[in-house]
Amino acid sequence: MVSNALRDADLSYTIHPYTNLVAHETKGPLIAVRGEGVRVFDDKGKDYIEGMAGLWCASLGFSEPRLAAAAARQMAELPFFHMFSHKSHEPGIRLSEELVKRAPVPMARAFFCNSGSEANDTAIKMIWYINNALGRPQKKKIIARKRAYHGVTVASASLTGLPANHRDFDLPIANILHTSSPDYYREGKPGESEEAFAKRCADELEAMILAEDPNTVAAFFAEPIMGAGGVVLPPKGYFEHIQAVLKKYDILLVADEVICGFGRTGQYWGSQTFGLKPDILTCAKALSSAYMPISAVLVTEEVYKPLRDNSGKIGTFGHGYTYSAHPVAAAVALETLAIYDERDILGNVAVSGARLQERLRSFADHPLVGNVRGIGLIGAIELVADKATHGAFPASDAVGPRVVTKAEEAGVILRAMAGDVVAFSPPLIITPEEVDQMMDRFTVALEAVT
Ligand code: PLP
Repeated sequence: MVSNALRDADLSYTIHPYTNLVAHETKGPLIAVRGEGVRVFDDKGKDYIEGMAGLWCASLGFSEPRLAAAAARQMAELPFFHMFSHKSHEPGIRLSEELVKRAPVPMARAFFCNSGSEANDTAIKMIWYINNALGRPQKKKIIARKRAYHGVTVASASLTGLPANHRDFDLPIANILHTSSPDYYREGKPGESEEAFAKRCADELEAMILAEDPNTVAAFFAEPIMGAGGVVLPPKGYFEHIQAVLKKYDILLVADEVICGFGRTGQYWGSQTFGLKPDILTCAKALSSAYMPISAVLVTEEVYKPLRDNSGKIGTFGHGYTYSAHPVAAAVALETLAIYDERDILGNVAVSGARLQERLRSFADHPLVGNVRGIGLIGAIELVADKATHGAFPASDAVGPRVVTKAEEAGVILRAMAGDVVAFSPPLIITPEEVDQMMDRFTVALEAVT
């Protein structure tokens, strides 16, 4: 199809996810046709450095032949089978074993889904199921955080703490609560140290648990770094204090590693970087370098045992997707994990991540830049109207989306998040030279709106 016809068809037939569908009618689509390393090319041949690895996911870039070959091999051999009941297949079995072995804390089992949202939904359902099994049906409330992002299905969107995911969707559902966001830059009080702020967040969580009655609170969900909520790193001591509270009231910790998992923060898991000891871990995205949709839920023995026992008692663990552990997706994930090891992906994150952080921090004195943050190969620049007071631009005049539009013109794809935050999350294979090119293009964009 020629470009213009494709553009017209896009405007005539599609509903784009996460899109102002009215504005899209004027702006039109960016149609990608090809990928090469950290770059994608549009239908006019223009190249873009994918500064977001798609949606924080294409960790091995956009042209890894081994992943294409792994998919083709599996397609030819056994394109589909499932794991319901006693059915099984090698990629699903081997991927379970690999993930359990690689987990940041001793995990017993892996369950597969297709997306991060489904993984978090599954975690919620497991928690409700086991608390019924354990004879405590009242222990069902789940606490997430304001500005968290856990997905868009009915339950995972309820966990998400962003207004756009609730508004006009009649969400959140019952039994889901949101405690304070750990954003020291935005939420810290004048004169409050980072450590004191972290403790206050934990105190606020404890106050919420007590107000709700600890016997009704089942679990706490957290991304090690909040991604879509604005790349919010936990303040010093945060997870230590939070986990002490959870332990006190017998509340499970679910680590949502959908963005942080597989090296993004410089260690294999964000839980290692920030000291989380989860009872349940969800992961997706870089699990397959996004070449196939697949996600996983890892559970400890303490979570698995009641789940197992109850399934024996009532006849089934009545949950599973047609494509749970899809063999092609699982084969691609296995190959992805092998490549991470063989190519020392963590070594590359150390080197290129250091360059990214250095380049990001060089913007600290820029008049529009209020805060710069990041670790490994994830980072953000928060734009403000007033550096001294952290005063934000009105949402109607947000600068982030304008910078991102200019960045696209300059040949780098970035994302503007709520709160006027521009996020960076390039493929984990990016070289320091490519980081420089990405940041040079970003500089052009920032200057264009200044
Ligand atoms: N959890 C986190 C931390 C995410 O960033 C995302 C997506 O960006 C999700 C869950 C939802 O994943 P998916 O879009 O695959 O459903």
